[in-house]
Amino acid sequence: MQTGKGRRALVTGGCGGIGAAICRRLAADGLVVAVLDRDGAAAQALAAMLPGSGHIGLGADVSDEAAAEAAFAAAEAALGPIDVLVTAAGILVLRPDGNRNAVAETSLEEWHGTQAVNATGTFLFCRAYARRVTEPREGARVVTVSSVAAQLGGYRSSSAYIASKSAVIGLTKGLARELAPFGVTANSVAPGLIDAPMLRLSLDPADDARAAANIPLGRLGTPEDVAGAVAFLVSADAAYVTGCTIDVNGGYRMQ
Ligand code: NAD
Repeated sequence: MQTGKGRRALVTGGCGGIGAAICRRLAADGLVVAVLDRDGAAAQALAAMLPGSGHIGLGADVSDEAAAEAAFAAAEAALGPIDVLVTAAGILVLRPDGNRNAVAETSLEEWHGTQAVNATGTFLFCRAYARRVTEPREGARVVTVSSVAAQLGGYRSSSAYIASKSAVIGLTKGLARELAPFGVTANSVAPGLIDAPMLRLSLDPADDARAAANIPLGRLGTPEDVAGAVAFLVSADAAYVTGCTIDVNGGYRMQ
């Protein structure tokens, strides 16, 4: 099967801390990458800095059905059929003081807004991908980004976020069953406390040591730690892995 070179990847949230590390890793592994994020100019700038050639940047709101469809089609028009989809776009709504709203304090706007990006945005790109799988495909992979928050109930995250990331895990399993007859795998990565922008909404660097004390491996994770798990899942070595969630959390949660 194809292992890297020549395959085409689309990464949503590609300009984020974790998303950019995934783009860099996939490009370094020989994939041609479509970087997708809200800001098209930023996505193009990142694409231009990736190793290798042929990468493109696209701007779209992943929660907008028409924009998501158009962006997927634009990626394929530019690169050819997308072999690898990685959905890293996500939001976490916190109060200005960095704390979460309790369920009792959560507005419908916060609830819907969070589901729209994290759950519906992931769904729209998975659906666009699935609609194009009409025959067996080699090296075809979907990797979604969930969160340890969905597995543990979260400490820093809102219930709206926890619910949205639980939806991502469930969606990924359903997709894995549907695409398995075509040889396409679908898996999720569940990052723990990763030193990337979303964690910094609620964790001051001065408190890193205290946070790390609760992590068996004794440190926060890096975006590259998450990108490494994604690289494995899209590799030939992971051909028999589907419907699973890989924990990238330093042992913060053990099954
Ligand atoms: P980040 O904010 O740097 O990355 C999120 C990216 O998604 C940003 O580039 C943002 O512009 C993009 N995005 C948000 N809404 C969008 C929309 N409507 N349309 C298109 N793009 C949109 O945060 P991060 O820490 O790198 O997190 C990346 C992913 O990892 C998220 O899905 C997050 O939920 C997940 N995650 C992060 C952590 C952590 O500790 N940082 C832990 C668990 C899961």
